[in-house]
Amino acid sequence: MKRFLLLLFLAVANCSSAMAKPQQNTEEARQFPRNIIMVIADGMGPAYTTAYRNFSDDPNTDMVEPVIFDDIFVGNASTYPASESGYVTDSAAAATALATGIKTYNGAIGVDVNKQPVESVLQRAKTLGLRTGLAVTSQINHATPAAYIAHNESRQNYPQIADSFFDSRVDNQLIADVMLGGGTRYFNREDRDVTAEFINAGYEFAEQYDDLLKIDEGSNVLGLFAEVGLPPALDDPKDDRLAFLTKHAIRFLENPNGFFLLVEASQVDWAGHSNDIASVVAEMDDLAQTLDYLQSYVAAHPDTLVILTADHNTGGLTIGADGEYHWDPAPLHRISASVTAISKDLVKAADVESYVSDKLGFTLNAQETAQLEQVKLLSVEEVEKVLKYIIDKRTNTGWTTTGHTGTDVEVFAFGKQSQLFTGQIDNTDIAKHIFDLLDRRTSS
Ligand SMILES: [Zn+2]
Repeated sequence: MKRFLLLLFLAVANCSSAMAKPQQNTEEARQFPRNIIMVIADGMGPAYTTAYRNFSDDPNTDMVEPVIFDDIFVGNASTYPASESGYVTDSAAAATALATGIKTYNGAIGVDVNKQPVESVLQRAKTLGLRTGLAVTSQINHATPAAYIAHNESRQNYPQIADSFFDSRVDNQLIADVMLGGGTRYFNREDRDVTAEFINAGYEFAEQYDDLLKIDEGSNVLGLFAEVGLPPALDDPKDDRLAFLTKHAIRFLENPNGFFLLVEASQVDWAGHSNDIASVVAEMDDLAQTLDYLQSYVAAHPDTLVILTADHNTGGLTIGADGEYHWDPAPLHRISASVTAISKDLVKAADVESYVSDKLGFTLNAQETAQLEQVKLLSVEEVEKVLKYIIDKRTNTGWTTTGHTGTDVEVFAFGKQSQLFTGQIDNTDIAKHIFDLLDRRTSS
């Protein structure tokens, strides 16, 4: 009761001060972004942005030209999880930190160390009357997007997490108005058809990218374009897949009250886990195109804030390896498919040398060809290993792990209030600032 009275007092005090200074409060309200777009590049450690800059370099000039990441860089974030999980985070704990502002154990989706649900910024945005959405290249119930919507003790509970996309509510409303990515395997199941439930609840459903073109602005949309994740950037016939999904998500979300959108370049991480440098730069390029679009969006809509960070660093990527002071991105420009796709087809190819040389854009030497001829008889996985080895040797790319490393990650921001994210911060600070911006915006 005491607490209630105190709150009532504070509310009244707040109101009267608001009435006393209407001018200032309108002014203040203008300072807070109407729209907030959180972009997560899963796994994008600092070496990834350096690799992308070198990859994009014009070798005919002395300087290495800056890329979009250089224009929007503001600082660094620590990523460590709750102490019980040590210093190296997984995507679930990191996404929970970015979404809710608390540290938790590796594997946790939107729950604290006691497995209790914690509100996410997306859920708060929904409570405050903003429209909410996500656009990702993984399945939409993968760890990062899941932490903004669901509460589950384990990221591995994919069907349960898919269910909570429909079952979780704030103020009796579904949490996300727009969800674009992959994941039909988890949403259209034998035991439950979550997709049908969304359709019954008035959502438009899209299963091809271009279906989105036919859906009106302002619609609620569930778009699932793959069984699990979307095809890797190198293999997807749509060469701007994340920018395309982001553009349409924004079109569906725009409204006078503002929106919160989560965008994830999910497969930077997958390329890192598989130590596939050609896919790394292709996923980075997909992300860079998305940021280009977002920069033009913010130029036209200055009441928007965009924040970009990684959840952690994947693969321990190094620019140069084996004691040699050398890195050559040139071969990466000519590789026309992911190593996984090349390997699958290679085991069926009659002429290994010409097939691989065509896909990689460089000629194999006799030793490399012989090695591929040999492993081709074993398995697709063995072929993949050899191909990656060949590409790493040609470019002199290094890796220290097929998992994550605990280094800090870069933070990037532009648009209204982007200065809040500068300097050395912690991943939980990002959520804390977003909560604060949402609350102060709607209360002023
Ligand atoms: Zn990962």
